[in-house]
Amino acid sequence: MHPDIERVLIARYEIQDRVKILGAEISKNYSGREILAVGVLKGSVVFLADLLRVLTVPVELDFIAVSSYGASSTSSGVVRIIKDLDRVVTGREVLLVEDIVDTGLTLKYLAEHIRAQKPAGFKVCALLDKPSRRSVPVEINYLGFAIEDEFVVGYGLDYAGRYRNLPDVCVLRRDVREGK
Ligand code: 5GP
Repeated sequence: MHPDIERVLIARYEIQDRVKILGAEISKNYSGREILAVGVLKGSVVFLADLLRVLTVPVELDFIAVSSYGASSTSSGVVRIIKDLDRVVTGREVLLVEDIVDTGLTLKYLAEHIRAQKPAGFKVCALLDKPSRRSVPVEINYLGFAIEDEFVVGYGLDYAGRYRNLPDVCVLRRDVREGK
């Protein structure tokens, strides 16, 4: 195990099992329709790559990148779009794919931004949810795992740009996060 990791929270095989179930559910619900999957950069890319390969309906792919104002790792609530969508979403079945929903502020902003462009449908698929941290109500249509309030890395999620390549969802050691 990586020395900066306290413990594995969700092992790779549990993630793969859950992704297969989510993929089957999404494919069933979108039967006969085409999805425009929108990945939120960069945290969602590993999850998105696995999810895409278990979908059996046609999928087009797009990405959006956001950043919160302020350097803090906790969300400041103000979201800025760094890279907007390439595709026109009007009339499309948009499936927004997120790594983790924490306060919900990022998702609320993105949902409003995309819904304003009048997609035919708008649904959210998130790998992780920390319901105890929510400050604004948001709807997650397809969820991988609900977790406690712990800072996690791996399987796409980073701390200061690192650890995205770890294959499991892991709890980062507190002293690493606090820079000790
Ligand atoms: P929200 O706007 O819901 O508060 O924040 C969502 C974003 O905060 C996520 O997309 C992610 O970038 C970051 N975030 C929240 N909790 C965690 C966590 O436990 N680990 C990591 N790596 N990022 C997190």
